[in-house]
Amino acid sequence: MTRLRTTAVHGGRDDLAALGVHALPIDLSTTYPVPDQVEGGEALQALAEGAARATSPVYSRLHNPTVARFENALATLELTEAAVAFGSGTAAVTAVVQAACVLTGKPHVVAVRPLYGGTDHLLSSGLLGVRTTYAGADRVAEAITPDTGLVVLETPANPTLDLVDIACVTAQAGHVPVVVDNTFATPVLQNPAPLGAAYVLHSGTKYLGGHGDVLGGVVACAEAEAKALRRIRIVTGAVLHPLGGYLLHRGLATLPLRVEAAQRTATELANRLARHPAVTGVRYPGRTPSHLLGTQSRGPGAMLAFTTGDDPAAVVRRLRLITPAVSLGSVDTLVEHPAALTHRLVPTADRHAGGVPDTLLRLSAGLEDVEDLWGDLDQALTGGHPTAPRATDPPSPGHRADADG
Ligand code: PLP
Repeated sequence: MTRLRTTAVHGGRDDLAALGVHALPIDLSTTYPVPDQVEGGEALQALAEGAARATSPVYSRLHNPTVARFENALATLELTEAAVAFGSGTAAVTAVVQAACVLTGKPHVVAVRPLYGGTDHLLSSGLLGVRTTYAGADRVAEAITPDTGLVVLETPANPTLDLVDIACVTAQAGHVPVVVDNTFATPVLQNPAPLGAAYVLHSGTKYLGGHGDVLGGVVACAEAEAKALRRIRIVTGAVLHPLGGYLLHRGLATLPLRVEAAQRTATELANRLARHPAVTGVRYPGRTPSHLLGTQSRGPGAMLAFTTGDDPAAVVRRLRLITPAVSLGSVDTLVEHPAALTHRLVPTADRHAGGVPDTLLRLSAGLEDVEDLWGDLDQALTGGHPTAPRATDPPSPGHRADADG
């Protein structure tokens, strides 16, 4: 087993030398010649029953070699037997709910808030035929009933950046499978599978792709779970396009370097924000003492959130460099107002109970120069007038534990 950066570069490329190519081939075929229709039928049957591959892909909704290479690479990074890719992170969440709840006839979900607003809305909407009980991470065991098919959690949580103890939740869940949304941490910083998660989910749209130009999702899991997910993907058609598979796979090669660089910037911004007179609180795993940092999680990550005394919409309007947009994990720094956007569909009282104040702003650190980012944040926080000269700002000490938010 190679180390992380090496695995990120070489994973899922085992067959390229035999093909005589260097870059990942993009197979755009929707259909594949099956001169022997009996053999083609057997391949179709095997894939429809959830096999990872067959003698022919037959049809691109059943299998695609470009997507399969990305899946193999991601599974290696997540320390799982397999991975199954989908057209979006939300399609991946849907497939996990269908596999764990619909296929098994256990239509109850226990979810730990806060979650990404779209996932929260999906689980509470009733659209998938499941009902959801929201519980604190330490109350999961009591929320589980005989018809609970799935426990859902995110860590770091979106958008509060709270760290949740994965092993504690999987222990409480017992035989009930747990899905951990690992989008914020990425496999660079955290591997939930060895801690008991049955499903490790990513919105690949974020750090895996890393450039804000591909929508996709993926679930890393054991082969038995992957089989069910592939069956569901074929039936529902929630496939990832091969161009998306290519971009996500290419993104993995630089994932460790991007996450490490963005994390350094996030740490610096979090420390400076905590000292800024207009900021009333900062949420960043690196600033809040937690036994999970350095054990469950190999780093604080590149996401942070903060509150100000000012109207959050006004602060965002004053930004000149930082992109005011939802999503995260891109090369450019993004800021958004969860109550207005990503968590808008979560009822206000539930949002507040989940620890998401209306004034909270969420920031995804990108790869720009930290001094340029700080200059922009500073002027936006102070009504267009920077408080401090940018270049002379002293660097902050590393991960201080003087949490204030
Ligand atoms: N999980 C998390 C943590 C997210 O932030 C998002 C999207 O913002 C999703 C899942 C959904 O992913 P997608 O937008 O790719 O459907």
